[in-house]
Amino acid sequence: MRLATVIHDHTRKLAVVEDDSVALLDCGDVDLSGLVRAGLESVDAIRSGLKKLDRIPLADVKLVAPLTRFRRDILCTGWNYWDHFSEGFGRREGQDVDRPDRPTFFTKGPDTVIGPNDPIALDERISSQWDYEAELVVVIGKDGRNIPESEATTHIFGYMLANDVSVRDLQRAHGGQWLKGKSIDNTMPIGPWLTTADDFDASNVKFECTLNGQVVQSATTAQMAFSIPRLISELSEGMTLRSGDVLLTGTPTGVGNARTPQLFLKDGDQLIVRGEGLGELRNEVRAVDLTSYEVRI
Ligand code: MG
Repeated sequence: MRLATVIHDHTRKLAVVEDDSVALLDCGDVDLSGLVRAGLESVDAIRSGLKKLDRIPLADVKLVAPLTRFRRDILCTGWNYWDHFSEGFGRREGQDVDRPDRPTFFTKGPDTVIGPNDPIALDERISSQWDYEAELVVVIGKDGRNIPESEATTHIFGYMLANDVSVRDLQRAHGGQWLKGKSIDNTMPIGPWLTTADDFDASNVKFECTLNGQVVQSATTAQMAFSIPRLISELSEGMTLRSGDVLLTGTPTGVGNARTPQLFLKDGDQLIVRGEGLGELRNEVRAVDLTSYEVRI
């Protein structure tokens, strides 16, 4: 089942997406966070009542970020495709490391999150090294700590896509910690909806990123260095994962930073991230003022 957060008739609603139509859910919530935290049982309840709901055309709603309320930073995986790890050798400004034998984890701030068709913010006064990263995203649906690999999939609520837009020089400018370069406001589209785990096999999903119509990344999740169960198992070792937590699973080869010549984003660029069975993120890169003191809600 594809669960979405939409705007219809100037109101935010939850919806189930079915091909070219949607069924609006009457639960008065502003995004899917509450539903996800309620756990996988809520999916069964929606499915059982779905037949009775009216459908409206998908074109009559605006898809927005499925989740906007987070109880902590977005959890992320680095270097989870070996071809991506290798392509970066010599391009990390002296911060190369040996190939890791355990997953690399980091976080990014929730103010990065935008909707599946929103503009990606870019401000060249901050940096000129803005890069794309197509990724599969796991949304946790059941609390757990020390989750064994064999149980990991039972903790997954669903899957979606993200473009983990990254500012490369900022990733390295602050003690070698990636947080800052990964946390610029309004840079990470997610969605376009949340595909529930009960009817989706994430082990071999083809996905790609195009930039101005050219395919720049193309891979399958079967190429991950560390499987999704391994990621959940290692991350939850001594650290509770809770329903509603969001985990990015890493990007494959083809990022702009590793190309010769390097390829960084600019105002007006058109990015599409698409995944088999997961839909598309279609975002224009847009120059904005991120240096103002004013906080945009
Ligand atoms: Mg990434």
